[in-house]
Amino acid sequence: MAQSGLFDVVIAGGGLSGSLIAWRLAQVRPDLAIALVERGERLGGNHTWSFHSTDVPAEVATWLAPLVTYSWDRQEVRFPRQSRLLRTGYRSITSERLHDVIAPALGEAAFFNAEIVNLSASGVTLGSGERLEGRAVIDARGQRNNRALTVGFQKFVGQEVEFETPHGLRNPIIMDATISQSDGYRFIYVLPFSATTALIEDTYYADGASIDHEGARRGIREYADSWGWRIKRVVREEEGILPIALAGDIEAHLADVPDGVGVAGLCAGLFHPLTGYSLPDAARLAHRIAGAEDLSGKAIAALTRGHADEVWRERAFFRLLSRLLYYAATPSTRYKVLARFYRLGEPLIERFYAAQSTQADKMRVLVGKPPVSFLRAMECVDEDRWLEQCWNRSVA
Ligand SMILES: Cc1cc2nc3c(=O)[nH]c(=O)nc-3n(C[C@H](O)[C@H](O)[C@H](O)COP(=O)(O)OP(=O)(O)OC[C@H]3O[C@@H](n4cnc5c(N)ncnc54)[C@H](O)[C@@H]3O)c2cc1C
Repeated sequence: MAQSGLFDVVIAGGGLSGSLIAWRLAQVRPDLAIALVERGERLGGNHTWSFHSTDVPAEVATWLAPLVTYSWDRQEVRFPRQSRLLRTGYRSITSERLHDVIAPALGEAAFFNAEIVNLSASGVTLGSGERLEGRAVIDARGQRNNRALTVGFQKFVGQEVEFETPHGLRNPIIMDATISQSDGYRFIYVLPFSATTALIEDTYYADGASIDHEGARRGIREYADSWGWRIKRVVREEEGILPIALAGDIEAHLADVPDGVGVAGLCAGLFHPLTGYSLPDAARLAHRIAGAEDLSGKAIAALTRGHADEVWRERAFFRLLSRLLYYAATPSTRYKVLARFYRLGEPLIERFYAAQSTQADKMRVLVGKPPVSFLRAMECVDEDRWLEQCWNRSVA
């Protein structure tokens, strides 16, 4: 372990959001003593994080650039009766690259194999008994399971594979729903990393969180076969169970975090309610924190909690869409909702992914006859009432 003692900012959790905050602070405020405390041996775990080029503002994209491992100018979606090439760029950051760039930049400010057993506004205590005091503390320890947020799941198993011959794909396929549907809305996601390698994920918008690993691996093999791609070897495997926000009470969610402690990432409920992407939010919050004048503990706690609260409230529309997808559509017809969405204009789709939909966009998404039960759709409209109904059903 490196230095211990008193720090200006202690960041709990060296995953995506904690690492971005620490790195951006180190760039913009080198005068500060920072500690990034991670229980694992490396930053970021085992992930490939992707985002649309229009998801983050230019000033954020600039400093994120060294982390971008793969970049494409186009992306594709496929449904049984339509496919579409979108002229929106797509970017991926691997956890390997995140670690390789950020860990050396932080040097001794990054603490590894450091399990936090206690966290408060004055610092963190590690399993070893060591104490790191902080003038400000940010909790970025990832997803917390409490009952304050009602979520569905986007779950997947992904394999980075090497093929015997070039696969011939130029662009990522971010949704291929031409495959058989099961366990909710199922699609395959493909990122062509090089001429002969790709990440293939078997993904489900499902009600339950359990993953059928063998089934997903078989789905990946069958998909490769359907293209005539012969897999030489599986380089790496990753899996994810991302929350899809249906409804909830963000104040109650944040109430679990001790008073005076800042919050970031999934811990703060910062993810796109319908897609589960959290990289754009993590980068935006890191940018905002590093640009703040007052970085006292009190100010960081107020800034980050206010940010989480504001973002949650702004995204009520996306939670409504999640409820329509998970509650008003039957699991086997969910794909039709997505197919319908992908007939809309590209700028609208871009703003949707960036969670920046305009009022006109929202109207456009909702008009027409969505492929869902009308009665159930009406029950979804009011978030609080919908939650109450769910609660009543679960206790009945
Ligand atoms: C495989 C996978 C792929 C994903 N792909 C995308 C994507 O393409 N695009 C996208 O936007 N989102 C994606 N997501 C969703 C989201 O971006 C990630 O879940 C993201 O990592 C969340 O960031 P975070 O910082 O909140 O949490 P995490 O990245 O999970 O970081 C939390 C960190 O805290 C550490 N920690 C936890 N408890 C302790 C403790 N007691 N002591 C010390 N350290 C602790 C953990 O080890 C971890 O490193 C993906 C998620 C997964 C799982």
